[in-house]
Amino acid sequence: MFPDFILRYARLPEHLFKRFDPVPVAAPRLVAFNRPLAEELGFDLDAYDEAEATQWFSGNQVPPGAEPLAQAYAGHQFGNFVPQLGDGRAVLLGEVIDRNGQLRDIQLKGAGRTPFSRGGDGRSPLGPVLREYLVSEAMHVMGVPATRALAAVTTGERVFRRMAEPGGVLTRVAKSHLRVGTFQYFAARGDTEAVRILADEAIERHYPELSPLVGGERYLALIEAVLARQAALVAKWMGLGFIHGVMNTDNTSISGETLDFGPCAFMEAYDPRTVLSSVDEGGRYAYANQPWIIQWNLARLAETLLPLIEEDPERAIAPATALLEAYPDVYEAEWLAIMRAKLGLEREEAGDRALVDDLLEAMHHGHADFTLTFRQLADVAEADNDASLVALFDNPGEIHDWLSRWRERSTLELSGGAVIASRMRTVSPLYIPRNHKVEEALVAASEADDFAPFETLREVLADPFEPQTGREAYARPAAPDERVFRTFC
Ligand code: AMP
Ligand code: MG
Ligand code: MG
Repeated sequence: MFPDFILRYARLPEHLFKRFDPVPVAAPRLVAFNRPLAEELGFDLDAYDEAEATQWFSGNQVPPGAEPLAQAYAGHQFGNFVPQLGDGRAVLLGEVIDRNGQLRDIQLKGAGRTPFSRGGDGRSPLGPVLREYLVSEAMHVMGVPATRALAAVTTGERVFRRMAEPGGVLTRVAKSHLRVGTFQYFAARGDTEAVRILADEAIERHYPELSPLVGGERYLALIEAVLARQAALVAKWMGLGFIHGVMNTDNTSISGETLDFGPCAFMEAYDPRTVLSSVDEGGRYAYANQPWIIQWNLARLAETLLPLIEEDPERAIAPATALLEAYPDVYEAEWLAIMRAKLGLEREEAGDRALVDDLLEAMHHGHADFTLTFRQLADVAEADNDASLVALFDNPGEIHDWLSRWRERSTLELSGGAVIASRMRTVSPLYIPRNHKVEEALVAASEADDFAPFETLREVLADPFEPQTGREAYARPAAPDERVFRTFC
């Protein structure tokens, strides 16, 4: 049933990873399997056998042709450099070529203690496995590059966090698991050759258009390309109110996919300072900081590449810095394009940036729900009825004034209201993984072995742009007593 493994990382020099087989679990049960993704990856679903799949996705058996390994990486965690992290609970089974010819990693997360586990148990509670499943798939459906979830398994074992919880294993699919931290691991050891191998691997897998370039140009171009992709990525997060929560350099992917759905969450009432992660005590990774954290993380990537750019790395600092200094404009352009689309604007006018900023300010003052504001703005475009939008704001005067400016600006558009509204509804979802709904699904599964709320939420999030009959509750922000202030990983 498994497609053939390519074994790409396993053929790189041995010191880039440690060979390691997943540690079997007591009583695995498959609780989610992503059939459309399996099909895309080239699985033979006619030969699907649940018992066999359960063995593979729990790590109890290694699928034929796989050569499991744990990848070495380092990382800046909350700004502090940790020279050795690595896959402490994940194992890469290998790579497959999907139906589009794209190489994809298949990784088990929560697969037991590895040589990189340090003090950890190598396991994951079921709750975070299900959160990653729901949120990563929702991001993908909403058009955000993200790692994917192929399967989730309960282990029949308990893991101990704040309390004893059932354990889980997630099967994660990525264009690769190369991270900024992977480069940092080898740069910190002065292993320029390994950094070159990783950079060439990144170019071949993710930026093949750069392969003709040689010499220092090649690696400068890699910095520029990763910057562009990360700028586009974080702009998409901002446009959905997504807060990653742990933007350490080991969680910043080279491919430009959202990586590591730990304590991630979506903002409800708009406040740029929002922090929902339980581990982000200083607010380093608050919503509004995200674009600038990416720039900081990519400066760390650039540092590792300096010796590949110039023989004397000092001389590479100026051209690399110039690329990093161009980032704010690159990001701003990506972000403004997204926000224009959310306001239903196709033309580009000089005052657009101010119009967006002033809406956000009104939302902040009025504690307006981020998702519903943009969604209901589409209704205003169509039906010219402000009531339900204005009801989201504590400060009706401010939003009234803004709406008249927006209406005036909209007269410059060529399309009519109905067309504008339907365009807006393709970029502003009605359903997002609201924290209280995610929490409800995780608690029911972990505490009562009840997967019905998880299944329903998965269904709702599979079609986030169209209203679904009877699912109104999934579009609503949390009531005061339902609010989730902290998410755990
Ligand atoms: P994260 O915060 O999820 O990005 O993880 C940071 C580092 O901690 C990575 O090296 C992980 O592999 C490692 N890690 C996280 N949880 C565990 C665990 N339960 N056991 C071993 N290592 C872990
Ligand atoms: Mg991580
Ligand atoms: Mg994590």
